[in-house]
Amino acid sequence: MEMIQRISDIYRRMTHASMRAGREPDAARLIAVSKTVGAKAVYEAYDDGLREFGENRLQEAQKKTVELRGLDITWHMVGHLQSNKAKQAVDLFDLIHSVDSLKLLRLIDRHAADMGKVQRVLLQVKLSQEDSKAGAHEKELEEILNEAGSMGHVRVEGLMTVPPFFDEPERVRPYFRRLRELAGSLGLRELSMGMTGDFEVAIEEGATMVRIGTAIFGERDYA
Ligand SMILES: *Cc1c(COP(=O)(O)O)cnc(C)c1O
Repeated sequence: MEMIQRISDIYRRMTHASMRAGREPDAARLIAVSKTVGAKAVYEAYDDGLREFGENRLQEAQKKTVELRGLDITWHMVGHLQSNKAKQAVDLFDLIHSVDSLKLLRLIDRHAADMGKVQRVLLQVKLSQEDSKAGAHEKELEEILNEAGSMGHVRVEGLMTVPPFFDEPERVRPYFRRLRELAGSLGLRELSMGMTGDFEVAIEEGATMVRIGTAIFGERDYA
């Protein structure tokens, strides 16, 4: 199948999921996760109409933004961000989805101040007990948000999560629902949740952004 057919199939499924949940047909935005994919494929997706791309490694993203400079692209950082890479991340990304500590948020605020930028961020939340997953604990969110309120160069727009992997997408529904409840109670609007295997469930549960790689670009080749 051509990429444009895969993309229109995803949009069709996104629209249906939105409508099933009684939401506007375009309630969720598609973030194309282009990690491991070359600039040429990103350009093809751009040519097919996509404008928002997600990366998870600084060096790789830096290279791609240079190769694709001049295009009207919104870049999203969806991978774990180490403190020592915060400055580069502020320099490169429009929205950082993976802020998981107050320490990291303070660093981002400081670097954004130096660059005269207000950095848009999401707080990544860890809703499961898996040790391998990054994210702040839900109990920490209020404290992070309180302090964020006094930072002049970050804007926390919402929450993001990567739930445990299940073969059966229905099993992730409680995680997505929990993230929506948390965002609601904290007064946050954006919900970054849902990937290739479960984006329809995520949209039914209120996702405003889905992060999709494989369904657009095919299986990743990490070689
Ligand atoms: C790789 C990745 C995605 C995309 O996953 P697919 O299953 O390929 O759609 C989404 N979110 C994050 C954080 C990722 O690292």
